[in-house]
Amino acid sequence: MPVWDDLVGQDRLREQLSAAARDADALVTADASGTAPPEASKMTHAWLFTGPPGSGRTTAARAFAAALQCVSPDRALGGEPGCGFCDGCHTALIGTHADVSTVAAVGTQILVDDMRDTVRKSFTSPANGRWQVILVEDAERLNEKSANAVLKAVEEPAPRTVWLLCAPSIEDVLPTIRSRCRHLTLRTPPVEAVADVLIRRDGIEPEAAHAAARATQGHIDHARRLATDQRARTRRATVLKVPLRVDDVGGCLKAAQELIDAAAEDAKEVAEGTDVKETEELKAALGAAPGGRMPRGTAGAMKELEDKQKRRRTRTQRDSLDLALGELTSFYRDVLAIQLGSRTALANEDVRDALDRVARESTAERTLRRIEAVLACREAMDRNVAPLLAVEAMTMALRDG
Ligand SMILES: [Zn+2]
Repeated sequence: MPVWDDLVGQDRLREQLSAAARDADALVTADASGTAPPEASKMTHAWLFTGPPGSGRTTAARAFAAALQCVSPDRALGGEPGCGFCDGCHTALIGTHADVSTVAAVGTQILVDDMRDTVRKSFTSPANGRWQVILVEDAERLNEKSANAVLKAVEEPAPRTVWLLCAPSIEDVLPTIRSRCRHLTLRTPPVEAVADVLIRRDGIEPEAAHAAARATQGHIDHARRLATDQRARTRRATVLKVPLRVDDVGGCLKAAQELIDAAAEDAKEVAEGTDVKETEELKAALGAAPGGRMPRGTAGAMKELEDKQKRRRTRTQRDSLDLALGELTSFYRDVLAIQLGSRTALANEDVRDALDRVARESTAERTLRRIEAVLACREAMDRNVAPLLAVEAMTMALRDG
């Protein structure tokens, strides 16, 4: 069915989800007609989607949400739910369906305040009589309090509520939560499959699509960005020059600063796009005249929005830096492949000269130590070490490696 079209390279998952959507549809029909519900249903009220970044966890969960809300008349004729075009499918896919709520971390954590309304909603019946779907995009970012709120809701679900939790791995979710979920795993889609979807869905030229899919090693969203956004290509070029610039201390510090600046630039761009509009909207909602003073008693709401925007900027900056570190790891992995004489296709074939030079001037052992230095930087960032410090320590370690 069309609703599964964007699930790239996940055939087994697609079968599991469409079977569940069929049974879910049968349950709704049985309820509506007062007949006995079907036995051994493949539908359940809590699901956990895990898979590496870029494999399409959220895409899969959203497609499932759409199939659950499908109201296509074809279903009555034995068709499967998930037509992709009916009002239910369409609004669920674009995020405006009244019975599909999405929770995503604004900053680095999902705070209990961010999801209080959603949890409350999960205890109510869906407006359209089908399913009340709650999609948590980054369940690994639930903090202790918000995870407990989810746990309570998952323990005592309303009859028609479905929780769809997404996380990189099963270890990222509290054992008490995951034991109540049906677990589905996504794999990294093959490079060819990603290129195909970029060509078919996004209308990208085949050559650019293949280059982007290869460079991002099956990360669909990054591949699309790389193929369509000049800024992403410029940033990647900056990152891939770092290995050539870490010969002396001055070069290391300069490279580190540039990586940080590029991430800050990304965050600034997001902020300029959304923050201004958001602030204006809130001011208008609170009754301020354009350019005038804010009415009494609105300072708290304004402060809350400022905090939210600050959290989002920090998060964008970290995500952008994390992407850069991923590109750096990929560079050194290619160097290692050359040094070991491997014949596998290189991710960064477009900077072959730089790869060859670094491969020639170092050893496989050194390359491994350098990969470790990049991973250590990622870990330091996870522990909230100041980004510039962590990145400087990394570029210095790349030199010494
Ligand atoms: Zn539909």
